[in-house]
Amino acid sequence: MQLQCSNQHCGESLPRDFAAFDCPKCGDLLELSCNGFQPDPIELKALWRDRRLSNDPADRSGVWRFREFLPDYSSDQIVSLGEGNTPLIAGHKTGAFAGLSNLQFKHLGWNPTGSFKDLGMTVAVTEARARGVKVVACASTGNTAASMAAYAARAGIAARVYLPKGRLSPAKVAQSLDYGAEIVEVDGNFDQALAMMTERKSSSEYFLNSINPFRVEGQKTTMFELMEQVDWNPPDFVVVPGGNLGNSSAFGKALRELSEARLIDRVPRLVIVQARGANALVKTLAAGSGQLEAVVEPKTCASAISIGAPRSWRKALTALNFTKGNVLDVSDEEILEAKSVIGLDGIGCEPASATTLAGIRRLRRTGEIGEHDRVVAILTGHVLKDPDIILKTHSERMAAAEVSA
Ligand SMILES: *Cc1c(COP(=O)(O)O)cnc(C)c1O
Ligand SMILES: [Zn+2]
Repeated sequence: MQLQCSNQHCGESLPRDFAAFDCPKCGDLLELSCNGFQPDPIELKALWRDRRLSNDPADRSGVWRFREFLPDYSSDQIVSLGEGNTPLIAGHKTGAFAGLSNLQFKHLGWNPTGSFKDLGMTVAVTEARARGVKVVACASTGNTAASMAAYAARAGIAARVYLPKGRLSPAKVAQSLDYGAEIVEVDGNFDQALAMMTERKSSSEYFLNSINPFRVEGQKTTMFELMEQVDWNPPDFVVVPGGNLGNSSAFGKALRELSEARLIDRVPRLVIVQARGANALVKTLAAGSGQLEAVVEPKTCASAISIGAPRSWRKALTALNFTKGNVLDVSDEEILEAKSVIGLDGIGCEPASATTLAGIRRLRRTGEIGEHDRVVAILTGHVLKDPDIILKTHSERMAAAEVSA
């Protein structure tokens, strides 16, 4: 594998160990390329299936099981916590709430540190260790930090996390502390924390934000695992929350590769759902100027997606173009309502994840999604990631009930 520019018009290609994350020619983000890899689809699907019966840690991981599409490492190089292998769960009350006969949730919150970030981190920390990195760093709204801290601890690498002060769920900060990360509090929001980290340019730090193309590779495997779970019969829609847009970009890249390698013969439409107060991609698409329309002061109860200037916006637009997808935004009220319905299905998730159900409900009402379409919502974080918001919602409800009683 080598690195290439994610802008197809640029065509720049670079060696895999190139130090920066953006293209020296045009400035767009880089991505890894598997250069027209054409496996035998039937053999490969059988191999992936067989690996589920193996006890080799690389075969057991829901990421490394698909290693034919990942950068190559020897098995003793791989840093894994048994990530992936997350279930696909049918939505009952949620299906009725959205007006759908076939709604399923893929719950990435059931990963080792409680969010999908683990899927990318296993690859990026493996790469960091292979490069001999001594310190890994990230700016984070909480989940990236928790995940990086855990995988860095496994790899014996120091972890430094840049966190926007007072804007994170305490549960996520607690995880970073537990896994031994050094915390740098930044006065400001996520975008400012990311800018501060990159401007410091500490030469010893290797950055593990989703601009790191190795993270995208690991996150790609969500689509591989999903397609396997539906017996390679793709759903009509895959719906994902959008923050910094790394995950949406990874899904787009995965669907392109799966389709080019003839592992799927149809591409699901990707729907990205943002919070209304952090809807940069919605605004960007509406303006159509080819420039990012950033949100200067992002504000939403879904802290994981409270990001005003998503770095992977161009890659996400490529993903939407390729899949004939769509992006929309939902209000905090819609998010919290959807979140409580997901809870009533016995599933649970953090607020950012619930944008999916709120978005699906809206697209059902506008008719863009049909009643019998097969829809998969990607839940990104575990219910215990943000217990405060649950207690707050319910105490407000109880207070309101008392007043009316
Ligand atoms: C990181 C995160 C997101 C946003 O993902 P992006 O790749 O930044 O778009 C959404 N939900 C949760 C729970 C997250 O941790
Ligand atoms: Zn370029």
